[in-house]
Amino acid sequence: MIVSAAWVLPISGPPIRDGAVRVRDARIVEVAPRDEIVAAHPSEEVADHPGCTLLPGLVNAHTHLALTVLGGVVPPAPFPEWIGRVARAIRALTPDDLAASATLGAHRCIASGTTTVGDIVYTPESVTLAEDAGLAGAFFWEVLGIDPAAIGERLERAGYPAAPTRDDDHIRFGLSPHSPYTSGPGLSSALHALAPTHGALFAVHLAESPAEIEFVRDGSGPLADVASRTAPDFEPAGVSPIRYLHELGALDDAIAVHCAEATGDDVPLLAGHARGVVVCPRSNAYLHVGPAPVEALARAGVRLALGTDSLASNSDLDLFAEARALAGIAPALSAERIVRTMTLEGATMLGLAGVTGSIESGARADIALFRTPASDDPYPALLKTAGRHTVQGVMSAGVWRVLDGQPTSPSHYLDVAVRKAAARAAAAVA
Ligand SMILES: [Zn+2]
Repeated sequence: MIVSAAWVLPISGPPIRDGAVRVRDARIVEVAPRDEIVAAHPSEEVADHPGCTLLPGLVNAHTHLALTVLGGVVPPAPFPEWIGRVARAIRALTPDDLAASATLGAHRCIASGTTTVGDIVYTPESVTLAEDAGLAGAFFWEVLGIDPAAIGERLERAGYPAAPTRDDDHIRFGLSPHSPYTSGPGLSSALHALAPTHGALFAVHLAESPAEIEFVRDGSGPLADVASRTAPDFEPAGVSPIRYLHELGALDDAIAVHCAEATGDDVPLLAGHARGVVVCPRSNAYLHVGPAPVEALARAGVRLALGTDSLASNSDLDLFAEARALAGIAPALSAERIVRTMTLEGATMLGLAGVTGSIESGARADIALFRTPASDDPYPALLKTAGRHTVQGVMSAGVWRVLDGQPTSPSHYLDVAVRKAAARAAAAVA
């Protein structure tokens, strides 16, 4: 099949006006001007989308899809207040609730043009459900608040794959200690050391709130109480959370999520050691923290990705809405850099470069098509208008998941399961 659009943005190469992509099975085999491809393959089916921009399926690099039913359940609030409510709501969810929630989250991602996630999972079903919905991604098991000696048992109980490397190339696994206030230094270091021994990634929520800054520096503030239970070996570090992680040796190749309260002193540490930073500007605003010093991070050469975080701290999973919030806090970033952040740069951070995040021969056929106004400058036009309301088509591994703006396989059973789960969570925080 050949798919053409007014603009094709391969990301790994310059934009192509009146471009096209040829897809065979689940892979992209060719990207070039439409006329060239059609002339070379006259008998191949062509799907023309003349009013659209075609780009790689988007990479939402930080999600908690299993918390999608918490949308609207936990209102915006200062971080320490919010995290207590979220913990109560999560405890109220049954395994079935989490599964329905993960499925709903995966569908919402696809519906807004996202085909890859960096997802924090609570049960192994999340991975299967995300794959079924068409998502690729890196899936991080969160291990917090335990003695490091119990990691193996905890991972086994949570269904972490015994051999976390798969033959196929579109799923990666990872480990996460959640944060410096929910995992002590012993546990964080142990997870960081364990991850590369079986090819897993390491991610951590870091420098998210002033409360976390205060806790790591002095051992005091609103997070000290929860930390006394979950991170009993923690000693006040006298430094920022980012420097603290670095001094533990756990910043190397780490995916640092948020960094909303990172300072100028933290930026070179992130540039020199971290795998990259996932920024979540709307989640940060929801929790009255940040914004992250994105322009300084970009100037220092830090790899950036973009995430919506969960619906417990955001209004939707629409990555282009997130991108416009990013442009708002980092006006010096070009539209092209922002689109790269939400495609190839995000895929690279999740260990999926060459698999997804770019339109190139050999990559998975993960494609998003957005209806866009005619323009000579495709990146700003896309950034200004794209979103879940302008999705024309979404293809994942060569399969259309959205066509003409409509999901190709709507799921009705899900509505009921989701309503029940949301009610349970709302009752827990009422
Ligand atoms: Zn998160």
